[in-house]
Amino acid sequence: MKQVVFRDGLSVPALGMGSWNIGDSVVSRAEEIASLQEGLDLGLSVIDTAEMYGSGRSERLVGEAIRGRRDQVFLVSKVLPSNATYEGTLSSCTASLERLGTDHLDLYLLHWRGGVPLEETLDALVHLQDQGLIRRWGVSNFDTEDMEELDSLNEDCAANQILYNLEARGVDHDLLARDRQAQIVSMAYSPLGQGGALLHEPVLATIARAHETKNGPATPAQIALAWTIRHPNLLSIPKAGSRRHLRENIAALSIELTSEDLAQLDAHFTPPDEKRPLEMI
Ligand code: NAP
Repeated sequence: MKQVVFRDGLSVPALGMGSWNIGDSVVSRAEEIASLQEGLDLGLSVIDTAEMYGSGRSERLVGEAIRGRRDQVFLVSKVLPSNATYEGTLSSCTASLERLGTDHLDLYLLHWRGGVPLEETLDALVHLQDQGLIRRWGVSNFDTEDMEELDSLNEDCAANQILYNLEARGVDHDLLARDRQAQIVSMAYSPLGQGGALLHEPVLATIARAHETKNGPATPAQIALAWTIRHPNLLSIPKAGSRRHLRENIAALSIELTSEDLAQLDAHFTPPDEKRPLEMI
């Protein structure tokens, strides 16, 4: 399975599992838990959540899904910028750990940059790491200049989680390469364009037809995912609330896009030829 490697040498599969909007409905709850568990069964260890998602409902559901198998999971959560003061970060982390039913996170991210000075949040993240409550820390939605500033304060950032899909590929200009050079793992969020119009783009269906998976011709979602993880050390975190989507997505790990495929995609989703401000959802 294609892997990404963190700066401390730990490697995880290049495909993880998102969890925004899970746990919001009692009707889909059992299937959402089954989907995360099947992902773990099939070797996807990374689960991404956040205190923001459903005001803790996503973390609670994830906690239920991983009960008894914490050692198979690389668990990621995030602190909201409004909670990211020194004390606020410590209490947010404690509350996340409680909802998740664990004593540590593998990665803890500042969800986006807010009004709290970065130095203050960093002090809290380093403290949490010293206490063993988080193994690594990182950021999310940080553009190039934010990353430069961060690096000038502390060079231990493990990951930057950013919006990245065929329709939102401005980071192809500089941020992805910059972070890779700094040994920071880029995590691609909303890699399927949130399951919207992107998956209906005819070019994806055309390319999909030319690739075989063990379950038959590939699908547009698989092509969209394979495109994100074509980059070395990029961790893509699609959310699949059903086992059907989960199984489909995991097969993207074995799809290698050809240079002709990539050229077709570039012709349709133009690569940036200059710096674009980082998009976010
Ligand atoms: P996404 O992963 O691009 O898309 C999820 C949507 O696609 C869901 O509606 C899902 O439906 C559908 N889907 C999944 N697999 C599919 C398939 N094979 N075929 C067709 N549709 C499929 O969007 P996302 O949830 O926004 O992003 C992924 C994760 O990134 C989030 O869950 C969250 O963990 C993280 N995220 C982080 C930030 C941030 O600011 N750091 C922002 C947004 C998201 P079902 O659920 O029905 O399977």
